[in-house]
Amino acid sequence: MRSTRSIGSVQSIAFRLAMAAWLVLPPAAWAQAPRPDADPRIEKIVASISEARLKSLLEKLVSFGTRNTLSDQTSPTKGIGAARNWILEEMRRSSEHLRVNFDTHQIAPQGRITSAVDLRNVVAILPGKSPRRIYVSGHYDTVNIGGQNVSNSATPGAAAAGGDRQTRPGFDPNVEANGANDDGSGTVLTMELARAFAESGVQFDATLVFVTWAGEEQGLVGSNVHAEDLKKANVPVEAVFNNDIVGNSLGGNGIRDAESIKVYAIGPEDSPARSLARHIRKTAGVYVPSHRVRLMAREDRFGRGSDQSSFSQNGFPAVVFREANENFERQHGENDKIDGVDFGYLAQNARVNAAGVATLALAPPAPKVTTDRGGNMLSRDPSGYDATMRWNASPGAVAYRIYWRDTWTNDWEHSQTIGNVTQFTLKNLNIDDFVFGVSAISADGQESMVSGYVSPVRAGTTIKRQQ
Ligand SMILES: [Zn+2]
Repeated sequence: MRSTRSIGSVQSIAFRLAMAAWLVLPPAAWAQAPRPDADPRIEKIVASISEARLKSLLEKLVSFGTRNTLSDQTSPTKGIGAARNWILEEMRRSSEHLRVNFDTHQIAPQGRITSAVDLRNVVAILPGKSPRRIYVSGHYDTVNIGGQNVSNSATPGAAAAGGDRQTRPGFDPNVEANGANDDGSGTVLTMELARAFAESGVQFDATLVFVTWAGEEQGLVGSNVHAEDLKKANVPVEAVFNNDIVGNSLGGNGIRDAESIKVYAIGPEDSPARSLARHIRKTAGVYVPSHRVRLMAREDRFGRGSDQSSFSQNGFPAVVFREANENFERQHGENDKIDGVDFGYLAQNARVNAAGVATLALAPPAPKVTTDRGGNMLSRDPSGYDATMRWNASPGAVAYRIYWRDTWTNDWEHSQTIGNVTQFTLKNLNIDDFVFGVSAISADGQESMVSGYVSPVRAGTTIKRQQ
């Protein structure tokens, strides 16, 4: 951001004191000084993420041998049935504040689901003051198709090599598939965040939902039916933090990167998913400053996907976290073992998630910047060459912050904090030349995601020609 102007102060006294301390301290003391934007409640949650617990959870998770969606459901020690029972019980044990249940679906044979299956996502809910929901997720199912590159549909020549392994006669879903990193890493990250948030003692405004999905490896099956049910029931899902392959720091190319994490967000530029991604990078900068968030202006990696797409397809803002440098040789095969997981790195990625989730869960919802009929709330009033933004009041907001930037730029360049109003005019800023947005701020200084004013895509018309 190049400029930050502040008029009509809305900052709390604590914030002003922190800011004052910040300004008078000598440079050497800066590292120990409270960061002006940091909330001690969130710092505590971030600090409570345990590397040791992530490790012990994953050690147990891989002990089930395979968690293939079509594997054994009756053995008490092996296969997906034993694994999901343990995830459910472990999340119940981790906090009495969590409501933990199976989200069960009977899935008919189709595609890679080669026989009818009882599919169960494991869902842990931490009720908030409001019904608006924020999701954290990873998929607990695994697959062994003999290595990533054998039958990846995005790989040229896959068909020639024998097509999709999972649909071939004789494919054995009970063969060992540890899935330590894909996606044991995202599974234990989700479980650890559930514990950290539920045991924090903080009362959040948003309801937090921690889910481990099944059926991801057969085509996002578990998340697909879950997101479809949410849409049908009109459940307000404001953000989805999906984590898939987030625990390995040593790439197959020999390069180690334990200092950054990628966040993929589907467009267009000012989609809610992109806004969520920017929010995650901003809060990571405050609470996990040693870890770099690399934003990716894509739905996911090239030709590959995960459960966030089930949410995007149903109209919910969703992103996916991916480790900085993957080892493709250790995916979808017998090499995806626990020795390939860097728990210090996984813990940092969990902390980045935690910072983004906690800030959003304490902040008001992002302002709605369209009318009930979907109309635009940005206009040229009053001169014709000014920018007037209007928005719907956000419950719990005591102030708003407006943002603007050049249209050919991805990141907000300017912002201004304003009072508790639902309209603001920037003089002499032509709405043709800039992108505008607005966020909502709570009494304790927590800021929502930024809602962007998106220029609608013009519908095409078919011109009748004279015959
Ligand atoms: Zn995966």
